Amino acid sequence: MTTVREWLLSSSLDSIDKSFMLEQVRGMNKAAQLIHGDRVLTPEEENRLNDIANKRSEGVPLPYLLGTQEFFGRPFLVNPSVLIPRPDTECLVEWLIEHLPKNGLVCDLGTGSGCIAATVALERPDLTVWASDISKGALAVAQANCKALGADVKLVQGSWLDPYPAELSFDAVISNPPYIEGDDKHLDALRYEPRSALTDESDGLIAYRSILPQIKRKAPEVQVIAFEHGWNQEEAVQSIFEENGFKGASTFRDYGNNPRFTAWLKV
Ligand code: GLN
Repeated sequence: MTTVREWLLSSSLDSIDKSFMLEQVRGMNKAAQLIHGDRVLTPEEENRLNDIANKRSEGVPLPYLLGTQEFFGRPFLVNPSVLIPRPDTECLVEWLIEHLPKNGLVCDLGTGSGCIAATVALERPDLTVWASDISKGALAVAQANCKALGADVKLVQGSWLDPYPAELSFDAVISNPPYIEGDDKHLDALRYEPRSALTDESDGLIAYRSILPQIKRKAPEVQVIAFEHGWNQEEAVQSIFEENGFKGASTFRDYGNNPRFTAWLKV
């Protein structure tokens, strides 16, 4: 028989991770774990906890084990079909909430878990939000998140702007595309996340070179464009905006003070 306290002390895993695992498996929050540390785990709970703990020690990210990650104060379901939402992306979302045009028609390309689209739709109910992803697995996760959170987002499957009905003329286009360079060593540490969501297997800029010309053709009314990118891609992404006729884009920093997204506003 193992008590809650004994299990919390039982391995060298991070104690915050262990506390999250207990909360998920036994439904006991941190305070309850402290107060009721002498409660005994059922054999099923103990097996499940040990299974999660073993996978965590092998390096599986905690959100995949728990099936959830918080983003902008809301829980998002995640599985290995989608990138785990990052706090840095909240900086982009904050900017979007402030700058998306009133009553605008917005699309989020490569939506993954749907964290950007769902948050924007919930924070700005005046907007009409569409989102797409090429991955069916990702769309299923985005669908589940929008349903669970009550976010009104219309989801379509396909590459960038391709799958949208031709009559939609978007006022804003947003994306957090795969932008890590194919030979970046950092990818090893991210091996549990979908590689196609992280890298284009090239210089990390293919998405921007594909999406911006599509916007010119398919969204002539566009007023806002915003893309997340890597800490070292500020100049390259700005040049791609310029080459496509979107002059005067600005780059903004994330919580770590690294350049993280570039946005263009029609003047
Ligand atoms: N921000 C992620 C990372 O560097 C990458 C996300 C992406 O490629 N869109 O870990």
